[in-house]
Amino acid sequence: MLEKIKSIFNKKSKPTEAPKKYLSCEYVQHGFNVDYEDIKMCCFNCHEGGGRQILIDNYKGEMIDWNKFFKEKRKMRELNKQGIILERCKGCFFLKEREWDDEDYINYMVFNHWTQCNCKCKYCFTNEQSDYFNQRKNYNMYPVIKKLADMGKIRGGGEIGFGGGEPALLPEFEPMVNMLLDCGCDNIRVHSSGVKYSQAIERGVSEGKLTVVVSTDSGTPETYENIKRVNHFNKVWENLAKYAQAQTDNKYKVKTKYIIYPGYNDNKEEIDKFFEYTVNAGIRSVVLDLEGGWYEQNKYNVPDYLYELLDYAEQKTKEYDMKNVEFYDRASHMRIHKEEYKKLRENAQANQQNS
Ligand code: SF4
Ligand code: SF4
Repeated sequence: MLEKIKSIFNKKSKPTEAPKKYLSCEYVQHGFNVDYEDIKMCCFNCHEGGGRQILIDNYKGEMIDWNKFFKEKRKMRELNKQGIILERCKGCFFLKEREWDDEDYINYMVFNHWTQCNCKCKYCFTNEQSDYFNQRKNYNMYPVIKKLADMGKIRGGGEIGFGGGEPALLPEFEPMVNMLLDCGCDNIRVHSSGVKYSQAIERGVSEGKLTVVVSTDSGTPETYENIKRVNHFNKVWENLAKYAQAQTDNKYKVKTKYIIYPGYNDNKEEIDKFFEYTVNAGIRSVVLDLEGGWYEQNKYNVPDYLYELLDYAEQKTKEYDMKNVEFYDRASHMRIHKEEYKKLRENAQANQQNS
């Protein structure tokens, strides 16, 4: 693995004496992302370098030699110490200049290794080959992670994420979450469709160590069904209310998410109803985003009404006194680059008129 990593680092950087503080990130130091066909460094891809560096190609759940893995992590750390940054990390807002420890442990993990789901969202990456993704056999990670746990190399203080696919459908999901909680993981994030209720999610929420994020993207059954192509609107909100009841005081561990999907839910009325359902379910925590595939194709040309809609949703969070509001990658990117991209659009329009 290392030779491959080295070959894609920016070789133009000149190694210097290792500074005490250096530019690196949690995933380079102590993390990985288990994807459905390989193991990657992380799951981020909105920045210039594109992220998602592959660490182990064509992975199918084989036992990992963790000692070797840590040895290679140490070598990557040394490269960062010398000011050498992975090309794929270029421009990533997770890069930080700070002191990093030199210990071998994992506290950042993302699990995305299965693709079966009980929704059929139009925007899902599985959409174009839904039969293939729903039937493909996923591999098991529990024995691989259990070995890491038995070595005492899993720690809290980081972040564990579950995506997929629908995690609650995964047979190893409940034992995996329970094992991670038992290992002291105190910040687990599960992205769930919310269709199937999970006792392990409930346990994590009640202990204040697990956040569940359910993307309803709607406040009406019609819009829900139009996007998700299943009729579980009421079931999902019932499950959300049940998870919310398991929360302990001042821990806003149950979140609803609204992904603005141009052409489907990009209006204020739907957003209003989404907030009504959220509040009625006892939830005070939301996530806002823009649909990723659409954004990738249009990010330099996002129309003004979508910026306004994002502002409108943010204003709603204030009206409803939401205690925790998050903007995921695309929405953050939009907010950061709003003025810059506006100028680009104006210049392009001016050039068109002059030509
Ligand atoms: S800096 Fe960004 S792209 Fe690079 S490994 Fe960290 S999170 Fe991933
Ligand atoms: S809930 Fe997630 S995994 Fe399931 S179809 Fe929708 S986007 Fe895909």
